[in-house]
Formats: sequence, structure tokens, C-alpha cells
Amino acid sequence: MIISIASGKGGTGKTTVATNLALSISNVQLLDCDVEEPNAHIFIKPRIKEKRPVFIPVPQVDKEKCNGCGRCKEVCAYNAIAVLSAKGRSASGRGSDVLVFADLCHGCGSCAYFCPQKAINEVDKEIGFVETGSKDDLEFIHGKLNIGQAMSPPLIRAVKKYINPARINIIDAPPGTSCPVIESIKGSNFCLLVTEPTPFGLNDLILAVETLRKLKIPFGVAVNRSDLGDNKTEEYCSKENIPILMRIPFKKEIASSYSQGIPMVEALPEYRKDFQEMFNRIESGRFR
Ligand code: SF4
Ligand code: SF4
Repeated sequence: MIISIASGKGGTGKTTVATNLALSISNVQLLDCDVEEPNAHIFIKPRIKEKRPVFIPVPQVDKEKCNGCGRCKEVCAYNAIAVLSAKGRSASGRGSDVLVFADLCHGCGSCAYFCPQKAINEVDKEIGFVETGSKDDLEFIHGKLNIGQAMSPPLIRAVKKYINPARINIIDAPPGTSCPVIESIKGSNFCLLVTEPTPFGLNDLILAVETLRKLKIPFGVAVNRSDLGDNKTEEYCSKENIPILMRIPFKKEIASSYSQGIPMVEALPEYRKDFQEMFNRIESGRFR
């Protein structure tokens, strides 16, 4: 089973929910796909066993073979390749320049595939790494983008390769509703949206709900700091028939343990049963 934990905006407590859920149930692995800023390891404190670099193939153009036809530019959906015609270019096209913007390249391979001259070779570019480890029975995987890299989806895919169908896989997704989030949550059996009862929280929750409905992934909501803010999130969920599976109150002890990197269920073990109950509802489909 794959349960992703997402949120329309950052800072709502997504990692708190992901890590504490993972620590409250058995036969689980936690995959931190928030590769731009992974922080689940701060709370899990896994013993890292392996670190692997992750590469994407970026194009390298053989100017001798290239005739400047521009097909590569046409097929690139990411504007990562440009074809400039130089003055005095010959009829063969030689003398034109093909520029590759490696930081925009997604490594999709389309340009090399469609180049009629077979003038494009692919070279590996390192974008980050995946680390795997464990804490007791919990398997832990996370990815981290190298500084200056912007291409998180290929690294997220590298993390998700470790999904083990024999285990409960909990995915800590990046915040927001953009490509990295979609890459993280697609294929999930259930997505838990973590929000907070504020106007900003509600606004971003609505966007996240629209995304999940388009992806046709079953979902529910966990409200963090549920006793602060207003009642509009509860009213919205009720009106939209969205199940609220957990409410985490604002408590000094929870904030204090978070600031020290101590998981909530270790500092306040009475919450473990709440996470277990939420998991049982998700697993059994009793979330409606
Ligand atoms: S598709 Fe190939 S031949 Fe055409 S401009 Fe691009 S690299 Fe050159
Ligand atoms: S590999 Fe894909 S993303 Fe990269 S330049 Fe070629 S077509 Fe564009």
C-alpha cells in the first residue's frame, strides 16, 4: 500500500504527520520525496547504509553531424535546447549552433530520439543522490537534490523505485501542487492532505483537493493546530464530503519536541493510537 502525505502549502506539519504515522505502525517504509528540502531524517534518525548518486542524461550535440534543422528544439517541451543560425552558414546547416541549457533539461531523451542526423549523444549529469537506511523495523529512503539543481522529478522517481509492495509505503511529498508533487503522489492508494485552519491553509487545501480529484486518488485531511484559526476548513470539508481523519491540537509540548527533532509520538506517546487509528481507517477504507 502507498500512502502519500501532501499539503497545499509548506509549514502545515506534513513531515510531522508522515514521520509520526511511520513510527506508529509496523512493516513500513518512509520515502521522503521532498528532495529540495528533505527533513524527515531529522526526526527518524535512520542509520544510513547506502548512498547512490542519481544522474539524468542530457544531450551533447556533434556539430559535425548537425545540419541545424531545428527538430530538437521543436520536440523539447522544456525549452532546454535552442538552435541558432550563424551568419555564413552553409547549405548543409553546418555553422549553426545548438545550445543545450542543461539546468532546464529533464533528460527525457526526445531530442536525441527525433534528431534526423543522429547528431545527439547523451551524457550523464549528476543531479543529486538517494540514501537508504533504517531505524529498527522502519526502512527509510530519501533523495536530496544537489545545490543549484532544479530538476526534482527524476530524483523523486529514483526515490520511488524503492517502493516495496510488501510493505506500507509512506511518501512525504513536497508542498504545493506543482510537478514534483504530482510525481510524488501519483500511483498512491491514498493521499492525506495536511492543512491548518487559516485562510491561507484553506486556499491551498482547495487547490490540492482539485489536483487530487483530477488524479482520481482517494484522499482525506488531517488538520494541524486544529484549535487555532477559524472554522472554515471544517465547513469546507463537510460541504465537500471530505473526511477529516485527524485533528492535532496546538500544544506547547508538540512544538517543543518538533523544535528538538523529537517525534511527537516519542515525546507524547498517547498520540500513537491516534495515528494508528487513522491508518486503520485508511487501510480498511473506513474513511468515508
Ligand atoms: S535535430 Fe539534430 S540535426 Fe537538427 S538541429 Fe537538432 S541536433 Fe542538429
Ligand atoms: S532531453 Fe528532453 S528536456 Fe532535455 S533537451 Fe532533450 S528534449 Fe529537452
